[in-house]
Amino acid sequence: MRILRNARPSLVFIQALVCAVVISGTAFRAAGQAGTSKTVIQNAIEQFESSPLKTTALDKDIWMLSGDGGNVTAIVAEGSTLLIDSGVDSRVSELNAATFKATWRPVTRLVNTHCHFDHTGGNVYFGSEGVTIIAQENVKKQLSSVQNVAFVGLRDGRYPTQALPTVTYSNSMTLNQGGEKLTLVNYGPAHTDGDTVIYITPANIAVVGDIFSNHFYPIIDVASGGSIDGMIHSLDQILAQTDEQTKIVPGHGPVATRSDLQEYRDMLVQVRQRVKLLVAAGKTIDEAVAAAPTKDFDAEWGRGYVSPDVFVRMVFTSLIASSNTNR
Ligand SMILES: [Zn+2]
Repeated sequence: MRILRNARPSLVFIQALVCAVVISGTAFRAAGQAGTSKTVIQNAIEQFESSPLKTTALDKDIWMLSGDGGNVTAIVAEGSTLLIDSGVDSRVSELNAATFKATWRPVTRLVNTHCHFDHTGGNVYFGSEGVTIIAQENVKKQLSSVQNVAFVGLRDGRYPTQALPTVTYSNSMTLNQGGEKLTLVNYGPAHTDGDTVIYITPANIAVVGDIFSNHFYPIIDVASGGSIDGMIHSLDQILAQTDEQTKIVPGHGPVATRSDLQEYRDMLVQVRQRVKLLVAAGKTIDEAVAAAPTKDFDAEWGRGYVSPDVFVRMVFTSLIASSNTNR
């Protein structure tokens, strides 16, 4: 299986999922996969490796490339292209070729929105080519210090040095690329402990990484420091910084509007509240899943590779983790 063959880039992601599996004692199953033993990660990888790579113009000099993992954004300057995220490693040559075809400039800088393999898989290639990799400081920590995950038989998950960010920041930093100003911001732990939201002005584009999945239940990587509270906090900040004209590039799925983001945030708030009540009532994680707290949202949000059951487990685990921390 690909996870084993290509252990390194997948490991951080797997670590989070494995953690939740261990906690729940139940194997993950993806939406529409009832009766099979496929995990979330297996379904996601199959999708990332088989979807066509699509290029969408977002502005005069800004493109989104999608299909090879998380969404990739390319911003052009006179002699260079800046990329946001690098897809899965197996498709990086294809990504690089498609980027060049759209921009006619070499990639010289790469920003990672967070540490997961479907956003950083191309780092090895780009880093080896001398591209400067930029990320929130915890991304470097996550990519360079992955632990032994015996459960899936993986021992060394460390990214090679050339794939690690060489420019990092803590709270925010700005970059200029052509006529655009990029403001990189971390609002604290959300999807992971190292998420970056990038506001591009004057184009009025916000690249928000996996804080937003359009249009399905997100992963909350509790093992990497993510939390449901942090997701909602970050979304509130993004909503405050954007307007109805802002093009929002989610980590996965098509370009969205602020109203889409608002709807997603409101869904998360409601699910958090319902799961919180189940936790307060002393329910176990299996009882919380059985209570189907997302039932009325599932038709709209439960069709991605994160099934309703898995999503409830992640929210439950996150709330338990934060109540332990606050104790
Ligand atoms: Zn992610």
